[in-house]
Amino acid sequence: MSEGLESSLQHRRLVLKAMLWITVAGGSLFAALNIGRELWVLAIGECVFVVLALCVLRIVDRTQHLLGVTIAFLVPFFSLMVYAMLLPRTSFTVFAWIQTIPIICYLLLGLRGGFWMSLVFLTLGVLAFGIRFTEQESLLSTMMLANVAISSMSIMLFSHIYERSRVKNEARLIELASTDSLTGLANRMKLAEVLERERSHALRDNKPLSLVMLDVDYFKRINDQFGHDAGDRALRHLAAVIAGRLRDTDLLCRLGGEEFAILLPGAALDQAAELANDLRAHLRNSPLDAGSRPLLMTFSAGVATLGEDGQSLDQLMQTADRRMYEAKAAGRDQVVAAGQQYPLSAPDPQVI
Ligand code: GH3
Ligand code: MG
Ligand code: MG
Repeated sequence: MSEGLESSLQHRRLVLKAMLWITVAGGSLFAALNIGRELWVLAIGECVFVVLALCVLRIVDRTQHLLGVTIAFLVPFFSLMVYAMLLPRTSFTVFAWIQTIPIICYLLLGLRGGFWMSLVFLTLGVLAFGIRFTEQESLLSTMMLANVAISSMSIMLFSHIYERSRVKNEARLIELASTDSLTGLANRMKLAEVLERERSHALRDNKPLSLVMLDVDYFKRINDQFGHDAGDRALRHLAAVIAGRLRDTDLLCRLGGEEFAILLPGAALDQAAELANDLRAHLRNSPLDAGSRPLLMTFSAGVATLGEDGQSLDQLMQTADRRMYEAKAAGRDQVVAAGQQYPLSAPDPQVI
């Protein structure tokens, strides 16, 4: 599950729990008072909700269907609230609860669900108010109705604006947290998230999944000879050159420094190694214009595949990393995958 979805669910679980405890406390109190006033149907309804809230509290932390559980609780809950508003013998202060409808709906259901549920139950609440207080002097009752309708709709509007910017800010924060600021590529956190998702797809569909780890050769020399800024530009150049050759479903990410990883869904070990070797040759043939002279870069890479080389990100990274160091030790500017070295013929002398 993505970070965003996970944190939204956590947030909603907390709000639902708070609402359930308020239902238990408020429902018990009002049930006792309504029994005293012999409002039997309402009192029984409130008792049912206290029991229901206690049951939902038992499952709220572990349910996989939080949205369904929330809707199944909210619809009868708001219906009972509107029923209480319609009863001639309930206090008119019961209408104070109308204002909580949009806040609860937006916090628990998000933008779309919050909008529709608020609209339906606010409309019913305002209609209930109109039905109960129409016998008053007409101008006064219109003013009362306008007060209830406009104040409730204002709260709905503010809740909508708040939820929209919250969702936007959350998405922006998640994007920042999963992006490398220098290259704009995904970072290690994003790789772990995508690998988890792709791993379950690969196991379900019986498809291969491979990981390439690459490290720029003699990058320190690039910094020393061309300056740190040119080094930064070289990293962005490498990112653009490689990304331009990948499919939409592949994921290129910068792990840190001059180390990168490529996740290749659907690619077996030999296919991934051949692709990595193509990328290596392509980068070698794509020098960066660094002013005084062209800046040529090469990388060494190691490849690992799901299953044969492990199941977890850590295991795949460890194997790919070990093979990448074998490629370095064998002279750099090459790719190693399970005992196989690419290119099959010896590479040209070091270009930098
Ligand atoms: P090898 O072929 O063994 O990988 O040699 P290398 O020089 O690439 O490896 P080494 O680990 O010695 O040097 C990596 C250099 O990368 C050192 C560090 O200053 C530089 N570096 C790390 N991150 C950045 C960055 O964001 N920008 C720039 N310009 N340089 C960076
Ligand atoms: Mg290096
Ligand atoms: Mg390195």
